[in-house]
Amino acid sequence: MKLVSFNHGHIGVVEAGRVVDVTEVAGIDPQAWPPVGMVRLIEGWPARRAALEAAARGREGRPLDEVRLDAPVQWPNKVIAFPANYHAHIDEMKHGSNGGVVSKFQASGQGFFLKANSSLSGPADPIVLPALDGREIHHECELGIIIGKRGRAVSREQSREYVFGFTCLIDMVVRGKEERVMRKSYDTFCPTGPWITTADEITNFDAICMRLLVNGEERQSATTRDLIVDIPEMIAMSSAVMTLEPGDIIATGTPAGVGPVRDGDVIEIVIDGVGVMSVQVVQGTVGGHAVWDAAKTGLAV
Ligand code: MN
Repeated sequence: MKLVSFNHGHIGVVEAGRVVDVTEVAGIDPQAWPPVGMVRLIEGWPARRAALEAAARGREGRPLDEVRLDAPVQWPNKVIAFPANYHAHIDEMKHGSNGGVVSKFQASGQGFFLKANSSLSGPADPIVLPALDGREIHHECELGIIIGKRGRAVSREQSREYVFGFTCLIDMVVRGKEERVMRKSYDTFCPTGPWITTADEITNFDAICMRLLVNGEERQSATTRDLIVDIPEMIAMSSAVMTLEPGDIIATGTPAGVGPVRDGDVIEIVIDGVGVMSVQVVQGTVGGHAVWDAAKTGLAV
């Protein structure tokens, strides 16, 4: 099943290019703040699934292009992200091979980080580039794992039960040496969508193929088979540290081919069996701060 958040707080089931509004069936108040409707739905999924399927079958819905798609999960408890999780990407960032040695610069030796929840945006939201002079802002093509239930110390063997579904995720980042969370947490730096594809639609988690195009030109292409830390291990590692909650998002790390984007670019991410999402890039006017100049001047702020 494909689940969308749309028109500010509504939840829908997507089938054949049409969206059926199931907000009421799901017991969600679209006016509620914070916008945790999808989190609640995921938490109550086992009890609500049958009713949602029946509603989706019995209603006609309306064309997808007539609604405004939001980030599928707008207010998760956390966004966990794995850096340096493909060998070829590590090589491009270090400008050389590490000869197969487990480096402290890869996810298996370094672990994960958090990206601000407030950086989440949806398919209808442009990526707004901060006004930073002389800085490259890169796209990273990633698979987003949506966690389905609460868990701590989840084993590899149990991990599949904790995966609710998948979504397309672009991890935007300002390149540089500042704290990673700051470089990756500008508003709109985590586009997700266009929907959540539930895990039952993906047979093999180790053979999910993804690519990213900028203005129609392919820049990144990979399969989850090439991950250094695979999906079961990402769940085991993150849940060793923190309690995973329904609706949590794990960004799985990017393959080789990252690169800068500019005002006017269109980024398209394609994940086979999951979805396709195109996002516009626009130049913003805010976002500058003296902290970004410190690297140039050598002065601490
Ligand atoms: Mn990333």
